[in-house]
Amino acid sequence: MNMIEPAQFITEALRGTLRSNVAMSHHTSWRAGGYAERVYQPADLADLIIFLRTLPAGEPVVAIGLGSNLLVRDGGLRGTVLLLHAALTEMRIEADGSVYAQAGVSGAKLARFAAKHNLNGAEFFAGIPGTLGGMLAMNAGCYGSETWNVVKNAQTLMRSGKLLERAPDHYEISYRHVVLRKQVKYFEHDDASLSDLLPVHHEEFFVGAKLHLLTGDGEIARREIKSLLSKRIASQPLNLPNAGSVFRNPPNDYAARLIEQCELKGLQIGGARVSEKHANFIVNVGGATAEDIENLINKVQTSVQQKTGVCLHPEVRIIGEYANTHE
Ligand SMILES: Cc1cc2nc3c(=O)[nH]c(=O)nc-3n(C[C@H](O)[C@H](O)[C@H](O)COP(=O)(O)OP(=O)(O)OC[C@H]3O[C@@H](n4cnc5c(N)ncnc54)[C@H](O)[C@@H]3O)c2cc1C
Repeated sequence: MNMIEPAQFITEALRGTLRSNVAMSHHTSWRAGGYAERVYQPADLADLIIFLRTLPAGEPVVAIGLGSNLLVRDGGLRGTVLLLHAALTEMRIEADGSVYAQAGVSGAKLARFAAKHNLNGAEFFAGIPGTLGGMLAMNAGCYGSETWNVVKNAQTLMRSGKLLERAPDHYEISYRHVVLRKQVKYFEHDDASLSDLLPVHHEEFFVGAKLHLLTGDGEIARREIKSLLSKRIASQPLNLPNAGSVFRNPPNDYAARLIEQCELKGLQIGGARVSEKHANFIVNVGGATAEDIENLINKVQTSVQQKTGVCLHPEVRIIGEYANTHE
């Protein structure tokens, strides 16, 4: 394990905030989970680049947005968490009419910004309570739309501090699945020509994206946003901490339908309960540990497999150490 004190990271040039021993329950929508060794909230993109360059080699780094699809195990996270939602918040209309947004922009802000500029196609982002970075990482979507359907290119930052621009075909993209292909071409900002094939560094973060949206009517977009939000209020348990749909939908079916069919609604372990309102949601009814939530996920998965033969795969990302392995 890499034992580094915050002071060792700090250089005069850094303008962000570095904290140690940070409760990830404050940074995840389940309001549960362990502590991160270090959390860095950059001041902006330039500051994030400098910060990454100061990190010792081998320091584990994870980027997060609003933690709305994330479970951090009770033993916590080694290394440094990059908290991007309050940091990378720029948005603008580019000369070619596309929308450039940084990775920390929330889905709600992105949808409203597009509507304000009479652009259509971003309405679905409004109800996804994450950041653009998280939506790019997850290929988040709903009601027939997916994030990468509207991405022209993504701006990424390598662990080394190098900024890249990536085309959608640099990734293998499908339903809630985005993986960088092993070897892809890229072009850098200061040299817009395509370079030779280069090996891809295994740690690379989304810092922004250009989105192509359709010129349309802002009023229609606003009405659509309102209607999508009403649908969510009617069908989701938004009054209790949750992380949205826990499992991916299996082909030609719905995880919620299968969980309901197996009579698992209301099943509870510790403070974690399968929602009565939406069977694919697990809610924190009070004091849930990450272990309660993970055990309930496993229990639902096993029961559905036994009763229906269908293996449900979690959509939520589970990271960190188990409590009993953390010294
Ligand atoms: C009430 C509710 C409703 C939801 N509805 C939907 C829905 O309709 N459709 C849907 O798809 N999802 C939905 N979700 C899940 C969640 O909002 C999305 O997956 C969202 O994209 C996560 O964004 P985030 O910023 O919160 O990411 P986080 O939860 O912070 O992170 C999720 C994953 O993305 C990675 N990540 C985050 N930012 C970056 C970055 N900048 N670069 C690289 N990796 C990054 C993290 O490391 C992690 O692995 C819902 C969640 C809730 C709580």
